[in-house]
Amino acid sequence: MEIVVALAGNPNSGKTTLFNELTGARQHVGNYPGVTVEKKEGVCSHAGHTIHFVDLPGTYSLTAYSEEEVVARDFLVEKRPAVINIVDASNLERNLYLTVQFFELGFPVVIALNMIDVAEQRGIRIDSERLSSLLGAPVAPIIARSGQGKQELLDATVKKSGDTSWRPLKISYGEDIDLALSELEDIIEQKEFMAGIYPSRWIGLKYLENDRQIVTQGREIDPETDSVLKGIVARVEAHLQKTLNTYPEAVIADYRYGFIRAVLKEGVLSFNREQDRLYLSDKIDRVLTNRFLGPLLMFVILFGLYTFTFSYSEAPVAWFGAFFNWMGGMIDGQLPDGHLKSLIVSGIIDGVGGVLGFVPIICFMFFGIAVLEDSGYLSRVAYMLDRVFRIFGLHGSSVMAFIISGGIAGGCAVPGVMATRTLRSRKERLATLLTVPYMNCGAKLPVLALMIAAFFSDNQTQLMFVFTLVSWGVALLVAKFLRLTVIRGPADPFVVELPPYRLPTFKGLFIHTWERTWQYIKKAGTVILAISILLWAMMTFPELPAEKVREFDAQRITITDRFDKDVVRELERPGEKKQLVGEARQLKEQLMALDAGEAGERLRFSFAGRIGTAMEGVTRLAGFEWRTNIALIGGFVAKEVIISTLGTAYSLGEVDSEPRGSLAATLARDPGWNPAVGLSLIVFTMFYAPCFVTVVCIAREAGSWKWGAFAVTFNTLLAFGLASLTFQIGSALM
Ligand code: GDP
Repeated sequence: MEIVVALAGNPNSGKTTLFNELTGARQHVGNYPGVTVEKKEGVCSHAGHTIHFVDLPGTYSLTAYSEEEVVARDFLVEKRPAVINIVDASNLERNLYLTVQFFELGFPVVIALNMIDVAEQRGIRIDSERLSSLLGAPVAPIIARSGQGKQELLDATVKKSGDTSWRPLKISYGEDIDLALSELEDIIEQKEFMAGIYPSRWIGLKYLENDRQIVTQGREIDPETDSVLKGIVARVEAHLQKTLNTYPEAVIADYRYGFIRAVLKEGVLSFNREQDRLYLSDKIDRVLTNRFLGPLLMFVILFGLYTFTFSYSEAPVAWFGAFFNWMGGMIDGQLPDGHLKSLIVSGIIDGVGGVLGFVPIICFMFFGIAVLEDSGYLSRVAYMLDRVFRIFGLHGSSVMAFIISGGIAGGCAVPGVMATRTLRSRKERLATLLTVPYMNCGAKLPVLALMIAAFFSDNQTQLMFVFTLVSWGVALLVAKFLRLTVIRGPADPFVVELPPYRLPTFKGLFIHTWERTWQYIKKAGTVILAISILLWAMMTFPELPAEKVREFDAQRITITDRFDKDVVRELERPGEKKQLVGEARQLKEQLMALDAGEAGERLRFSFAGRIGTAMEGVTRLAGFEWRTNIALIGGFVAKEVIISTLGTAYSLGEVDSEPRGSLAATLARDPGWNPAVGLSLIVFTMFYAPCFVTVVCIAREAGSWKWGAFAVTFNTLLAFGLASLTFQIGSALM
């Protein structure tokens, strides 16, 4: 027989662990239609049955407070599966809150009482048979991590799935609510309001709880009955407000907890106090969240993660780089010069290589985060920093994303954006997503270094430090600004919980890491190719008119003619890295200068060049001339490109292979440049549009291209404002 079973439970109850234990490698990850919530499915065979598991998003309730809750509920109502409700035995009262809501709807539920090992360690004893008979549902004690109790759980599930009719549990919510509820129930039954979708008492309950989704649905289906129901609800609300200064939702929640407590008191739960008092987590927390020692250790641990991410990933990143270089070189050798070659080498390989080049970093970062998360330490970080970050409309967990993005100069915003996944509150997550690109990522550093080398070579270290502080300052202030404007609204009522410390398992760590990395490849990879081709085209077309090209060719011949035939032949002999001496060397230098000049002309003639030139009128305010503009447009590909494009625009030929010295010297000598321009360019580079890989990630993570577009425009305007200010003040002071 084929059985569909939904796996539901609070976040952190061990859902993922159980899911992996049950389905092993037979999994499939997708999305629920229309939303960004992840949908995991898997299959397992048991006693001749094929069981399809659907891992519902972790939730604390079944009321439509969040997307996850709506998704979970819709799935259950639509598919009517049997439900395995996984509860954390060491935190039973709180976890059963969700269970009660399943009973209210009337689902056939099997309770998987997980982490009984942890409960035992903490001196908590649970009589599962008693719990089962009181709740009228099978209860299977398990240890998801070791698979203990799995067979019994599956037996119970198969048995339960034979009867999936709904039998809603009736709880008393106190006189006021109960009376109103039966009144609502009568009307709902009489009018057959939303009949066949939900049980009638439950609809009444949701009206009292003011459930967004149900109320909207009700209004659409039958506006008349809807308004009668709302009238009754308004009356109860007013009454409760007057008599108890509270509202129905709170009363209902209280009574649910009351019900749970009553059940637990019936001999289900007992404590071994001595053990419970000083369990290990508390002991560890005394040190790790100590008022003085805590922040210090946190800094060390976060710095450790940062170092781990960026230094250990260095080698694999280099392998990827070398591989793509090799591939580019190979194709370079095989194909004739022309657009096809340029498209493949500069557009496709560089673009795809760019995306895949991030994979090792992302992998390492997610692994590090998985360790912190699975062990429970991440919650401590959030707990300690929450108060500071809240001032700026962010959350304690935002810090990780900032650090990874380059909060300690030299990270990367792509994994930073992905790291915001650990934030559960939506507004804070969005504000974090949008401000992490202000950090000084590794790609901005060469630009800063170039400007410092050209104009401020005396104070290198101090300046780097100042720029790091400035990036944090701007990021936090902008976050505050966004939270007061576009992402307005109170912080989600999200209490930082401190789950007990646990030793992460390797299996769990690897699955977490792989899942997230794969998502990055899938999500970012798809659009990036298209964008990198577009950018390549912008910097390639339109081409120089034929007569211009002929002019350069003519000059090339003039130069070559000046030299002896033998010298020319020497240059044409194969063998790339041969040492040229004397005249051959001179000839090569002159030809290279000419090539560089031609490349510069080409760039100027392209769309990017034209845009750069057209913008000069405006960008003068910040001290940028057309060549800088082109470089900054190129910087949208990746911030490193700013330097190579500046090199081309200033006709320097191959700057990459030379130390930055020559470009720095050129700029320092150029009349269009001075320290005020240098500073302005630094400011602009730090804050303008994130590189497009980051933009794609922002759009994907925020669930809408709107936010990607916002990051590009808002940041560029902000950066331009700040850069202009810097330039104007700087010029006045000089
Ligand atoms: P989810 O958020 O509900 O998916 O929770 P996870 O499956 O990620 O589990 C959270 C943590 O609890 C992980 O570190 C697991 O290794 C750990 N865990 C899960 N089940 C058990 C268990 O039965 N015993 C113990 N000691 N740890 C468990």
